[in-house]
Amino acid sequence: MKKNIAIIGGGPAGLMAAETIMNAGDFTVDVFDAMPTMGRKFLMAGKGGLNITHTDSFTTFLTRYGDSQAHITPFITDFSPTALRAWVHQLGIDTFVGSSGRIFPQEMKAAPLLRQWLHRMRESGIRFHPRHHWHSESLATAELIFTTPQGTYTHHADAVVLALGGGSWAKLGATGAWVTPFLQHKISVHELMPSNCGFNSPWSAYFQDHFAGQAVKNCSLSLYPRDHDLSKFHSGEFMLTRTGVEGSLIYALSPALRQQLSIHGVATIYLDLLPHYALAHVQNRVSGTRGKLSLANFLRKRLGLEGVKAALLRECVPLNTFSKADDLAHAIKSLPIQLLSTRPLDEAISSAGGVCFSGLTENLMITHFPGVFCAGEMLNWDAPTGGYLLTACFATGRAAGLGVVSWLT
Ligand SMILES: Cc1cc2nc3c(=O)[nH]c(=O)nc-3n(C[C@H](O)[C@H](O)[C@H](O)COP(=O)(O)OP(=O)(O)OC[C@H]3O[C@@H](n4cnc5c(N)ncnc54)[C@H](O)[C@@H]3O)c2cc1C
Repeated sequence: MKKNIAIIGGGPAGLMAAETIMNAGDFTVDVFDAMPTMGRKFLMAGKGGLNITHTDSFTTFLTRYGDSQAHITPFITDFSPTALRAWVHQLGIDTFVGSSGRIFPQEMKAAPLLRQWLHRMRESGIRFHPRHHWHSESLATAELIFTTPQGTYTHHADAVVLALGGGSWAKLGATGAWVTPFLQHKISVHELMPSNCGFNSPWSAYFQDHFAGQAVKNCSLSLYPRDHDLSKFHSGEFMLTRTGVEGSLIYALSPALRQQLSIHGVATIYLDLLPHYALAHVQNRVSGTRGKLSLANFLRKRLGLEGVKAALLRECVPLNTFSKADDLAHAIKSLPIQLLSTRPLDEAISSAGGVCFSGLTENLMITHFPGVFCAGEMLNWDAPTGGYLLTACFATGRAAGLGVVSWLT
């Protein structure tokens, strides 16, 4: 009789594990998900353009995983961005390289890819069980226990892949509710924290009312002021919200900002409002008398600085800065913006933290729960947006699937 594998969590990691196991033959595979359909977060990821992976050189790609690089490297070495792109093509979905090397499906959305993929999996015999909420408290029991609309369902499996996701956007299914039972079962889990997230800034009521929702374009950001040895400005754009800042330029800095917040209780980013002008040029343009010009007109005429950028300058530096040309030039080229806290985990694109690799075998099996494997965002790694999140979810899903196959054969 064929051995049965249960996959709990029908996101990209769980689905990739399911298909990998099914392709190995000799297994029956059941995928359970608490939600009414599979891949809810994956579909949401496609709303703004599904950034599936990236054209970075392989070495650069791996560095995107920061502190978790060493843990993630073996999985991405086995299932590289190039292999992932080829896998997307095998589903009949074309891809293209967008700005800054990001790779997207031709139609940008996740739905066509997911539809094709689920169809292929159903054809191969994989069974899907939506609306099956697994009781993570039952981790140590021989039977898997689910709540379904029809009542409690118990399922026996020879091995299990848990791909329960992180803790953001709980309404899409990944609630992080598994963390407490895991800790009770002595599985090492690093606290789930918001990553690729917005941050709260102490905006004045006037600033909130007039500038929330506006994009700050053609700027660059650094974790350190311009004259600091570690200063490195990243170009792009970000959004001002009622509560602070968000957007890809901010997301990329979120691990470092989280660390600053945990050490100092406050974090600061430095914004170059006019990255195309050298400091000396700005100094030159703001020196000399203003004559009858208002400050706003002076900055607009001398430097083209106006609108939201001029408002940020007024919001973030004390008034007396404007009367000293050198201080003003430095503020324009390295404007400190204070961040008080992260936005809540539920609003984040992804979560950092999760099941620690120290408690897993190299095949992603929980060391003291033989036959139980973990994959995807529920593992303790972190990466910026840019396709690195999905690449690691697919690669660890595949690795957990291969782990099951080698454990049972
Ligand atoms: C708005 C947004 C945009 C994004 N855009 C991108 C992008 O462009 N590129 C990129 O790389 N990444 C992106 N991401 C991140 C990416 O979507 C996630 O990293 C990825 O979906 C995680 O995959 P996963 O399979 O680990 O978990 P999930 O996709 O979260 O799937 C976990 C599944 O487990 C199920 N589950 C959880 N607990 C239980 C339980 N007890 N019983 C049964 N089922 C359970 C959930 O219902 C869920 O379906 C985006 C995320 C968001 C929110």
